[in-house]
Amino acid sequence: MTRRVNLRSDTVTQPTPAMREAIAAAVVGDDGFGEDPTINELETRFARLVGKEAAVFVPTGVMGNQIAIRVLTGPGDMVVAGRETHVVGFEMGAAARNSSVQFAVVDDSTGTLALREVLDIIDAEEDHHPHVAMVAVENTHMASGGTPIDVVDLVALAGAIGGRPMHLDGARLFNAVVASGTSAAQFAAPATTVMCCLSKGLCAPVGSLLAGPADIMERARVERKRLGGGMRQGGFLAAAGLVALDTMIDRLSEDHIRARQLAVLFADTFPEAEYDPTTCRTNIVAFNHPQARQIVAELGALGVWGDTIGPRRARFVTHADIDDDDLAFVAGVLARFKPSVH
Ligand SMILES: *Cc1c(COP(=O)(O)O)cnc(C)c1O
Repeated sequence: MTRRVNLRSDTVTQPTPAMREAIAAAVVGDDGFGEDPTINELETRFARLVGKEAAVFVPTGVMGNQIAIRVLTGPGDMVVAGRETHVVGFEMGAAARNSSVQFAVVDDSTGTLALREVLDIIDAEEDHHPHVAMVAVENTHMASGGTPIDVVDLVALAGAIGGRPMHLDGARLFNAVVASGTSAAQFAAPATTVMCCLSKGLCAPVGSLLAGPADIMERARVERKRLGGGMRQGGFLAAAGLVALDTMIDRLSEDHIRARQLAVLFADTFPEAEYDPTTCRTNIVAFNHPQARQIVAELGALGVWGDTIGPRRARFVTHADIDDDDLAFVAGVLARFKPSVH
């Protein structure tokens, strides 16, 4: 069998042996009645970690984002978000489907929202434009290459939007924490609600969390039910999530080191992409190339699995199941690689 180094996403990670043990040993109950002690512990632990009153365990990050939009908006409202963010481009139009909102998108090519554009959209309410109910931000910002957003920018944004709620899509919040030294609570402080995935770099098999004020989380529980996200004895999943929070955060720095090494390899292999490897600060290598789809397909056939996240944008993601030996294999493949069309 040809070797395969799977860099398609950090969602491909297997649960760790400690997680499998915790899953087997988990004490569970019916979360529909609030009686799963393991889920309750995970929710409490996460809320404390991000400095919020309460948290709700959800099956996926998408559901966490969707619930946040649902509880912070009304039908016909506008949600301001970065053009390249997950809520805008990678959730199958769920916000329109579930919450009847529309997005006003602003430039986020560096990861940070263009503040001037955000303020112009809010200002246009005066000119009979729709009500801007909330702003959504992403940290780390996936499409720009896992960029950690500076907390100063988040505080400035929250201060500038006139008391409107801000949702932080922190699918990879702990990558931002490890890369910046800013704590999860500091990042979450300017936001009303914060979502975080346990199932990406933290290696849990399933699960995300949404945290925020207690009254908003009560409504979030109702919306989770409406979306079919109540999980009964979900404590088996929460048990893995607790191991993720306890043991898998600090090691993200290893993924960041390997991603930077990978970034240098790709920059050297495809100089025409003009990719600056120093922009890779967490675990995502993403660069534009006119033949991105073809490169990804041809590298995949050689055992280096990546993905495209746009017509001309390639992405390779490091995670716990990638080691230095895998990186050496990738280096070997890239050294011999000649794309068939240039
Ligand atoms: C993966 C991801 C999500 C959604 O998480 P799922 O668990 O796959 O639904 C949301 N936002 C960002 C930025 C992501 O990368």
